[in-house]
Amino acid sequence: MDAEIIAIGSELLLGVTIDTNSAYLARQLAAAGVNVYRKTVVGDNEGRITAAVREALERADLVICTGGLGPTLDDVTREAVAAALDRPLEFHPELLDQIAARFAAMNRPMSESNRRQAYVPAGARIIPNPRGTAPAFLVEDERGTVIVLPGVPGEMRYLFETAVLPYLRDERGITTVILVRTLHAVGLGESVIGERIADLMQQANPTVGISAKRARYELRIGARAESQAEAEAMIAQTEAIIRERLGPYLLGEEDLPATVARLLRERQQTIALYEGIAQAPVFKALLSLPNVEQVLRGAEIHPLDSPADAQASSDLAYAGAANVAERWQSTIGLGVQSASGPNDQGFTAVSLALVTPDGERRLTRPFDLRSADGFEFIGTAALDLLRRYLNGESE
Ligand code: ATP
Ligand code: MG
Repeated sequence: MDAEIIAIGSELLLGVTIDTNSAYLARQLAAAGVNVYRKTVVGDNEGRITAAVREALERADLVICTGGLGPTLDDVTREAVAAALDRPLEFHPELLDQIAARFAAMNRPMSESNRRQAYVPAGARIIPNPRGTAPAFLVEDERGTVIVLPGVPGEMRYLFETAVLPYLRDERGITTVILVRTLHAVGLGESVIGERIADLMQQANPTVGISAKRARYELRIGARAESQAEAEAMIAQTEAIIRERLGPYLLGEEDLPATVARLLRERQQTIALYEGIAQAPVFKALLSLPNVEQVLRGAEIHPLDSPADAQASSDLAYAGAANVAERWQSTIGLGVQSASGPNDQGFTAVSLALVTPDGERRLTRPFDLRSADGFEFIGTAALDLLRRYLNGESE
């Protein structure tokens, strides 16, 4: 079954509201084994919504719309969908009764405009909405099925889970399972990873995709099968191939900070930080960790030194690391220090130093610190240096 999603609302086009409904629906449909080939965002305009639904029906078997079911005159999804399906709107007195009952229960007067919500396209199946006033509906047509859900995210999700999923399972025989596993990788460039797994990225099932976030990579394996067990086996097989190709650069399902925290706990080590950079990139990278205090004994942020060259910045990073480890009695000290000023190409040398029970490790590398991303790269590089040490990898 091929589906398309249409998110309706001018606020989505203005960028005022982020279209989280489409992302939710896409994830849910993928998990149910329904292919989503296109998402459309369209404003509260009857003609454009009608055209979008018509076009989607030409391509897809299932079209799910969200938004524009409210009582006000700018909520025109009902009219537009009825027009796209060449059906009139029909008044349902029992819907009006339900809407009136809801207002009575809230002790609020129902306004005349709520009458509009008691109309659905002729022949539609009504999906009652106990979470809001706007009823949702489903229309089966020879061109395909159109399901219209409200825009309020909580209502939309509730109706999807309680009405749409059961419909897909029980009446459309959707039994396919799609499983997605996300793996994290670090320390290699995106193009290098891409080259090593190029063949996997071209295969249809399981699919493999990469996305990069500041030198940290997420690899998503998606497998489609007729059972959970089969999908899991397919993912495990692909994961094993990726592991073999990326070796120590592949972390697993944990991201970099979580991996480092786990390794520190397993090895019964703690760290203290010295950061000679006001943005405190390593501290910031660790902040995403729950219970960070279990592994981090202390941090000193001291951005005032301006070492003249790479050697001086490396020495400051080292001295800072040794100092904080001693002060806070951690087993490991991690120091970061940038040299003063960028070079002609805009890169600033940044030194990392690790003081450990087994000796020291140092690294100095140029980073582009003209945008905030540059600092995140430093955080990644520092945590990866620590990870490799904890893993017993050579420098
Ligand atoms: P109701 O009658 O229950 O208000 P509705 O179908 O009229 O439902 P809308 O008026 O379109 O819904 O939107 C209601 C709220 O839901 C708005 O505040 C909007 O910001 C939010 N919303 C609408 N569409 C989306 C979307 N695609 N993703 C996230 N939020 C959305
Ligand atoms: Mg709206």
